Amino acid sequence: MIIVLKHNVTDNEIKMVTEKITEFGYEPRVIQGVENTVIGAVGDEEMHQTLEVLNNFDCVQKVLAIQKKYKLVSREFHKDDSVISFGNQDKVGGGNFTTIGGPCAVESLEQMQQVAKDLKAVGINTLRGGAFKPRTSPYDFQGHGEKGLEILQQVKEEFEMSVVTEVVAVSHIEKITEVADCLQIGARNSQNFHLLAAVAEAGKPVMLKRGMSSTVSEWLSAAEYLMVHGCSDVILCERGIRTFETSTRNTLDIGAIAVAKKESHLPVVVDPSHAAGRLDLVLPLAKAAVAAGADGLIVEAHPTPMTACSDAAQQIPSAEFGKFLEQIQPFIDLVRKNS
Ligand code: PEP
Ligand code: MN
Repeated sequence: MIIVLKHNVTDNEIKMVTEKITEFGYEPRVIQGVENTVIGAVGDEEMHQTLEVLNNFDCVQKVLAIQKKYKLVSREFHKDDSVISFGNQDKVGGGNFTTIGGPCAVESLEQMQQVAKDLKAVGINTLRGGAFKPRTSPYDFQGHGEKGLEILQQVKEEFEMSVVTEVVAVSHIEKITEVADCLQIGARNSQNFHLLAAVAEAGKPVMLKRGMSSTVSEWLSAAEYLMVHGCSDVILCERGIRTFETSTRNTLDIGAIAVAKKESHLPVVVDPSHAAGRLDLVLPLAKAAVAAGADGLIVEAHPTPMTACSDAAQQIPSAEFGKFLEQIQPFIDLVRKNS
């Protein structure tokens, strides 16, 4: 850690801070500049007490951490891209491009069969769809719960597709794990650390959405929770963040895709649907995501979006999914040619 002292500190104050640093288990190295004095505290930040408390000293301007809060997810720890496989979905990451599609919510057997049929016909192997929906209003459709899981199971078998579905509560994990090939943690639960630990212990790959107000560092730290608790197959998912902009539902953070790819070895999948919030913007956002280096897309699709119980405005009619894929493909090819 680095402790920057204020201008005109006295020798006594420097002595007081260095003594505190030693007390906390670090070795202090004082660097006297023309304007400022800086003290390097050498030692393992994980092994010793945090020095942030030094901010309380009048003579301290700021305390900066050097070590990152995440290790297992970082590229320093694992240089090569992680490649993840589950069910019928082989190889997510490592230069493979994966597209997952399906409705926001599981509404009926007929709806899921139609989506599965339309998506399977254009080469999609993994179906998304929430049985348990985390809704902002308690009056909105909450999902069919266990009945939704039964529908997912039936469609999964009938169409030989993998399933990714959201976990909103620890008490649902056991039942969801019987059906899902990949467990989704939604934006609203991205920093629910107790849930992250429990989901990690379920032994399935996890797709971790970025919290709508999470920094990249907080998102990667959430992924670290999953890895620390035994899940090595983590897929990061950028789905847009809250900003002052209201013309899109969320602001798709293109920069975060590039940063996450640099900082971490984990695959980064992008959800243009929840970022856009409206159908006409899903395609351009998906193209941008591909160009920024995403390893895949997770896109909402519904046989009749107009009748959808949730997120009706952003779902692609499933019969048009092939056209969507055709329009994305040149971007995938271009990125491949240049990498
Ligand atoms: C979803 O994927 O249906 C969903 C609720 O997404 P998010 O958590 O990103 O809002
Ligand atoms: Mn949705």
